Amino acid sequence: MSCPRFDFHMHPKHAGCANATMELPAIVQQSHSVGVVAIGITDHLNRPEQIPLHRQIRDELLTMQSPVDVFFGVELNFTGCDQGFVFSEEIKQEYQFQFAIGGIHSTYLNEFDLDKIIEIQHRHHLKTCEDSLVDVLVHPYWFSRKEFKDKNWPFIESMKPVRESLTRELAQAAKETGTAIEINVGANIRRQKDYVEEYVDYLSIFAQEGTMFTIGSDAHSIDHLLDIKLAWDVVDRLGIPEERIWRPATEPLLKACEVAKS
Ligand SMILES: [Zn+2]
Ligand SMILES: [Zn+2]
Repeated sequence: MSCPRFDFHMHPKHAGCANATMELPAIVQQSHSVGVVAIGITDHLNRPEQIPLHRQIRDELLTMQSPVDVFFGVELNFTGCDQGFVFSEEIKQEYQFQFAIGGIHSTYLNEFDLDKIIEIQHRHHLKTCEDSLVDVLVHPYWFSRKEFKDKNWPFIESMKPVRESLTRELAQAAKETGTAIEINVGANIRRQKDYVEEYVDYLSIFAQEGTMFTIGSDAHSIDHLLDIKLAWDVVDRLGIPEERIWRPATEPLLKACEVAKS
């Protein structure tokens, strides 16, 4: 079994988080070059004023031809601790988002307390699963190096503090709500070997519990799109069957162009 060649998490240059290499035409070509057949464009939506940027992305996509199927999605972040996402059925319809991925991007703490950090992450993971507009829980247990550096905290280099009971609880929530768990290269897989081994063990619990998975490079720079292969390797290692790899439940916004494929 070989993992489907998808990449459903990446940032074009529009919101200003990715660099200038992440132009949409370059993204589709680079994804095609590495063997990807379907991608999702998922720029950030953290604040209401970012919404019009997404219209620009969609408009630009509609002018293009692509050698890969392209879906139009969005990455959501909480507006604060125990707050919601800047997203609604109305926004989804108006801007014609085909899917949404989301998750927590901060510890929401001012003092380092590992137990509390994990508890808050877990609570927001569950909250993400419970949101019926969110298809994918992004990068569980990713932490911002910048946040830790700014707060002068030791960075978390191990998955061992995350108790198995929490993971099983999250897996059940994901399964019941149909939320896919993301295998995210940039956040969790492109790291040092010992950490990756622990992370693969962590993911193996979701595999046992029968959740859906999704695959994303989370590329913010064009070269990072090539690393999606690392996520496919993890899927193969875990023996996740193809039917448990999530894909958007709609037709792509851009269908792969047959001419460009040859
Ligand atoms: Zn993210
Ligand atoms: Zn992202």
